[in-house]
Amino acid sequence: AAKTSGKRTWRRFRPQQRIRVVERHELQARLDRAVSKEQFGVRYQPVVDIARGDVVGFEALVRWPELGSDPVPPGQFIPLAEETGHISALGAWVLRRATADLARLQHRTQGFDPPYLSVNVSARQWRDTSFLDEVCTALDTTGLAAGTLQLELTESVLMRRTEQIDAQIQALKERGVRIAVDDFGTGFSSLRYLRDFPIDVLKIDKSFIDGIPQDPQQVALVEGIVHLADTLGLQVIAEGIEEEPQQELLADIGCRYGQGFLFARPLTLERGEAVLRQRNDGRRAAG
Ligand code: C2E
Ligand code: MG
Ligand code: MG
Ligand code: MG
Repeated sequence: AAKTSGKRTWRRFRPQQRIRVVERHELQARLDRAVSKEQFGVRYQPVVDIARGDVVGFEALVRWPELGSDPVPPGQFIPLAEETGHISALGAWVLRRATADLARLQHRTQGFDPPYLSVNVSARQWRDTSFLDEVCTALDTTGLAAGTLQLELTESVLMRRTEQIDAQIQALKERGVRIAVDDFGTGFSSLRYLRDFPIDVLKIDKSFIDGIPQDPQQVALVEGIVHLADTLGLQVIAEGIEEEPQQELLADIGCRYGQGFLFARPLTLERGEAVLRQRNDGRRAAG
């Protein structure tokens, strides 16, 4: 038996964990190479007007590798990229690719109301002093209108605000970019930031949507969030809508926008364009 605490610590390192550490190490090495070679892809999940069914925007979701089988879920490699700092390069790449793609899509679908682009931005990116420049450069290079760019942050960013983060967000707002709180309701932040922080959109986390319409408490929570948002003049997007009864209830309680497999999965740009043409036909902007 192990006698020193050091040895005990080592003995607690079970073969299972050891495999996990090795796998993690390999995954990290693969991620290093992928970042330097830009071997990623971006898919676009439509955001729809729940009652009318038309597409109002697209959320960019990174994919790795871009092609081939065996994709690694973002839920696995994004945290790793955050730890290693790779998220800065990866995030900047996603921003460039997605703004270029959406500008192209908007150009190809002139006559329709231009769909917006929503990009996930991790806590570490918000702390990068170069982030604001990257966004401005992406807008300038692609010609995407700032008013059709939305940046998503999580409650953890709002909890650990700094003057530098606030200044970046203020500058982005002045440029016309919209700010959305992703996975709303899952963090531990106070509601005060909804009042004193320049937020435009709340995205209600899928875990709340999963429980409706069958769970009255979840229904009450979602209804409460929608009313709160209305009162504060914020837009609401329900995430992870998979079934029609969810859609019906959300429409009933006045939740205007949603995303989910019921409407569309994350799509290639080409498929996204096809869905927009199909769903928005007859709703073309005048002129
Ligand atoms: P998220 O931003 O909350 O994105 C929503 C996730 O839910 C996406 O998973 C999407 O594919 C999935 N989803 C959408 N509708 C449904 C549905 O009806 N049912 C189910 N079961 N799932 C649905 P994905 O693409 O695996 O991304 C997971 C998370 O990884 C994202 O959560 C986001 O936090 C992060 N992520 C993805 N792309 C990026 C990126 O480019 N940058 C950063 N920083 N994070 C990203
Ligand atoms: Mg998101
Ligand atoms: Mg989310
Ligand atoms: Mg998330």
